[in-house]
Amino acid sequence: MLIIMLGPPGSGKGTQAVRLADKKGLAHLSTGDLLRNAVKEGTELGLKAKTYMEAGNLVPDDLILGMIRERLQVSENGFLFDGFPRTIPQAEGLDAMLGEIGSKVDMVMDLEVSDEEVIKRLSGRFSCPKCQAIYNYPNMLPKKEGICDKCGAELQKRKDDTEEVVTNRLEVYKKQTQPLQDYYRNQSLLKGVDGEREIGMILSDLLALLDSAAD
Ligand code: AMP
Repeated sequence: MLIIMLGPPGSGKGTQAVRLADKKGLAHLSTGDLLRNAVKEGTELGLKAKTYMEAGNLVPDDLILGMIRERLQVSENGFLFDGFPRTIPQAEGLDAMLGEIGSKVDMVMDLEVSDEEVIKRLSGRFSCPKCQAIYNYPNMLPKKEGICDKCGAELQKRKDDTEEVVTNRLEVYKKQTQPLQDYYRNQSLLKGVDGEREIGMILSDLLALLDSAAD
């Protein structure tokens, strides 16, 4: 099964993707996490990606597609893509790669959240630099202030979660990523989910959708 999580920055797709992948045994592929790791490790890819990421712009399609190709081996239960594809050329590139291995996208789950909510959430977001867990003030607090519940590392604010960069990321999303809604709607793969509800409610809707895709 191959599932894509679509949604603006701050829609909760990272949080939900981790839970969904865990419950369904899917391999979770977050291009944002992969890129942040590459930057931290100072790899060639990381050095190329850093300036784009810090400005809230997209990393070039060829770098992203190369990174996905490396990881697109057969996983027993399938993949859950989080933050990929983000442009029409990436979606076309993914379709071509999947075609080569006799696979295809099964469903695209689109988390719908308003601009005001995105800005509010991202300015209150903290994440763990070690295990990538996400927290949110005031809604999703860690048990001990400033410390990750899962691995004990000190929480940090992402460099691209400042107000200026958040505004740019939202604009980039509208211009470059939102056209994917029509791309996947035209293939009858798009399922919209209201992302402005309690986390557990959203998760149960997503699980129900996944079950319907597996039928
Ligand atoms: P995210 O954690 O998904 O919000 O991604 C953080 C940043 O990584 C984005 O603002 C982009 O700069 C970059 N990025 C992540 N995924 C992609 C992608 N599929 N295409 C281009 N850039 C990406």
